[in-house]
Amino acid sequence: MFSSAPYTMHERLPSLDSNSDWSRLIQAYQAMALIRCFDKKAVNLQRTGQLGTYASCLGAEAITVGAGLSLENHDYFVPYYRDHATQYLRGVPLYQILQYWGGDERGNAFPAQTPAVRDLPNCVPIASQLTQAAGIATKAKLCHESAAVLATCGDGATSRGDFYESLNVAGVWQLPLVVMVNNNQWAISVPGRLQTASQSIAHKAEAAGIEGIRVDGNDLPAMLDVLDYALDKARHGKGATLVEAVSYRLSDHTTADDASRYRKASELHAAWQREPVARLRQALVDAGHWQADQEKQWQTHCQQEVDKAVQTYLQQPPQVPTDMLDYLYETLPESLQAQRTVLSEHAGGRHA
Ligand SMILES: [Mg+2]
Repeated sequence: MFSSAPYTMHERLPSLDSNSDWSRLIQAYQAMALIRCFDKKAVNLQRTGQLGTYASCLGAEAITVGAGLSLENHDYFVPYYRDHATQYLRGVPLYQILQYWGGDERGNAFPAQTPAVRDLPNCVPIASQLTQAAGIATKAKLCHESAAVLATCGDGATSRGDFYESLNVAGVWQLPLVVMVNNNQWAISVPGRLQTASQSIAHKAEAAGIEGIRVDGNDLPAMLDVLDYALDKARHGKGATLVEAVSYRLSDHTTADDASRYRKASELHAAWQREPVARLRQALVDAGHWQADQEKQWQTHCQQEVDKAVQTYLQQPPQVPTDMLDYLYETLPESLQAQRTVLSEHAGGRHA
């Protein structure tokens, strides 16, 4: 399926066949349905003043779930801000994801004993996480770990220097790095045609001397095929890969955006016809692996899980204000001691 050429291009891989691992695909569908339910609730929480600015993953479910299912426990995940399902599948509880988007850094204190403890928190600056991922991959290689590093970004990030620098060093040093671009065709209000004159984002791998793969990011089985391949290649010392997963951002950029001001309703409507959740559900139904009663039960389960997460999130005690200083330095500088004392007095009797 994949050649050993410096880079290969795959517009689309076979979606489903008789050899498909149906239990894995059902697991994927269940995670996709759950994260869609979560995503809708998160937007509603922001709209009602109970969450900060939130980046929706609507339309990216096959990408973020595919990543979560392809990563192995000993791999490293370096996310950008639409990877809620990957974080969840790595072991981050849904309430902690809400906590982060609610402005509480304790949401990034991933649970010990889960694969997520090896991962980085969300990255808000565009593309800077890719250089950090290259650093982690360098460490993994120097320590002879059979682990892969998966770093993600959006299409807008591919215009940044950090993107090219990371791919370049990954090629030169044969790093166990997979960079996956969620090409959802919009970088806030900038469409793909204004982002790059390159034939595709995957082509950008060529300059770095690594393999580039373009895959239908709305096609969950194809995502698993590509990520299984690229991550396995990395784990076995066979070099880095750039994956361009082509999808469409069905949401606004974030809850602080109104995409109706710059893109056509007809374009959005057409994109909904290709959306990944309904597509996988229909494929499972057609193959006799998913029934209407299962769907009804799972949707009820999703709603219950999300409601529980929201309750847990809303019941968290306020963050201690001294936290903003206590984790910056091993020893707090003298110049900040007075500020800490003031913050401590405002902690209202809570431990500080
Ligand atoms: Mg984008």
